[in-house]
Amino acid sequence: AKDFGIEKALHDLGVKDINEGTSTGSNSFSNGDVIESYSPVDGKLIGKVKTTTKEDYEKVMEAATSAFKTWKTMPAPQRGEIVRQFGEKLRELKEPLGKLVSYEMGKSYQEGLGEVQEMIDICDFAVGLSRQLHGLTMHSERPGHRMYEQYHPLGVVGIISAFNFPVAVWSWNTALAWICGDVCVWKPSEKTPLTGVACQNIAAEVFKANGLPEGISCLINGDYKVGEFMTKDKRVPLVSATGSTRMGKIVAQEVAARLGKSLLELGGNNAIIVTPDADIKMTVIGAVFGAVGTCGQRCTSTRRLIIHESIYDQVKNAVVDAYKQLRIGNPLDENNHVGPLIDTDAVKMYQHALEKVVEEGGNVVVEGGVLEGEGYESGCYVKPAIAEASNEFEIVQHETFAPVLYLLKYSGDVENAIDMQNGVAQGLSSAIMTNNLREAERFLSHAGSDCGIANVNIGTSGAEIGGAFGGEKETGGGRESGSDAWKVYMRRQTNTINYTTELPLAQGIKFDL
Ligand code: NAD
Repeated sequence: AKDFGIEKALHDLGVKDINEGTSTGSNSFSNGDVIESYSPVDGKLIGKVKTTTKEDYEKVMEAATSAFKTWKTMPAPQRGEIVRQFGEKLRELKEPLGKLVSYEMGKSYQEGLGEVQEMIDICDFAVGLSRQLHGLTMHSERPGHRMYEQYHPLGVVGIISAFNFPVAVWSWNTALAWICGDVCVWKPSEKTPLTGVACQNIAAEVFKANGLPEGISCLINGDYKVGEFMTKDKRVPLVSATGSTRMGKIVAQEVAARLGKSLLELGGNNAIIVTPDADIKMTVIGAVFGAVGTCGQRCTSTRRLIIHESIYDQVKNAVVDAYKQLRIGNPLDENNHVGPLIDTDAVKMYQHALEKVVEEGGNVVVEGGVLEGEGYESGCYVKPAIAEASNEFEIVQHETFAPVLYLLKYSGDVENAIDMQNGVAQGLSSAIMTNNLREAERFLSHAGSDCGIANVNIGTSGAEIGGAFGGEKETGGGRESGSDAWKVYMRRQTNTINYTTELPLAQGIKFDL
């Protein structure tokens, strides 16, 4: 079978047959059980990673808390210079890392490269930001006083990430946390441990070349139990967790119980509203890419199409026709549009959703099914499916992390479509396809979409790093990446300075001695 350059990529990234899953930089050690990472692409074993024990974790925290003392005192633009070098290394290793992402997670090679490009972009953003960590100044009510606020480094930032963006999510957090003066401990998904090892190798080299201490970038590995080391640990003031709503509810409570901060990036149930004024050609491209890209395993994947009854059949037929063109197969082969799901458990959830929608009265218009035979040996390849459904169905209300698209019909005004779009528990991404200014503005207004992301005439997926990324309601409320998302990685301090010889009290209070 064609190797698609995987062996060379693993070699270039320093990924071995058996890897240490615990690392504080150049120092790697691990005493836990071994996770075997199998590729959903061909079902082959890619490599093994030794997981982190509680004792290993203590060593990591020792290195991290000690490194924080040095790192936080370095001027922020100098920390930016380190992140710039990290971005340069990513440029050099874009192809092998993109390939490993594709092979270990199953997304297309183009999307793997895109993910590494996002890492490069956030590094560039962070470098500029390292000179812009600004607070406000305000006028004091007291004569001869000055008031202002500053942002200071927070400490050890714990990062827990999901399998579907195995490298980008880490970099959104670390690149910002590092320039903010924090040190990071990362627990990647147990489904994609090798991309974690590869990223840590790249970061470790940069910190070492600059003579910086161990512990600024740390890696731990394992399942939720290893994640819990951090959620329960008072020494970790911020836990940034990306994954399912189920996970987020547990993590939020653990972290809140010790009054830590959590940044949650959880599940979505994203819809595109298609109004009578939509450009149908653009709608089809946006909807199909949104529904089948990454095999429906993006948090921003399009799950629901809310179509006006007057154009319902036209849109349905166009989307169904487009699905006939989809080529499903090895994602490293650039002729294919759709790769595999992450594992056979995900396949079961996909099958369950298709059974459930029929049970609830839905009508399947593009049949699903698991693919078998040559090229599909991993058992993870499925056919993207479409079902006509109703927004109230339990299965439609639920995020199924697979390429299942629900068609929903609305009548009357765009308000009715907005009500349906908002009528789910999640609030991540949303879009409207329309050339009608009134509809577009209504959708973006306070009476419109209740999501963290709302787009006009583009789909729900494919965000840029310049904007803050995240969602409301059961998506968790966190924001990462651009805009002022950096503030969560710092602690805010308000300062008042008296440059007189008097000591007036605020609110005019008299206290004479
Ligand atoms: P998951 O919730 O199963 O796992 C995510 C991570 O959380 C893993 O590293 C896992 O080990 C860890 N974890 C699970 N339980 C934990 C606990 N109790 N304590 C500490 N850590 C724990 O999610 P997944 O299947 O890897 O990813 C898919 C989900 O992620 C989808 O719901 C998707 O929408 C969501 N997601 C959201 C965003 C976003 O930005 N909003 C981005 C990517 C993925």
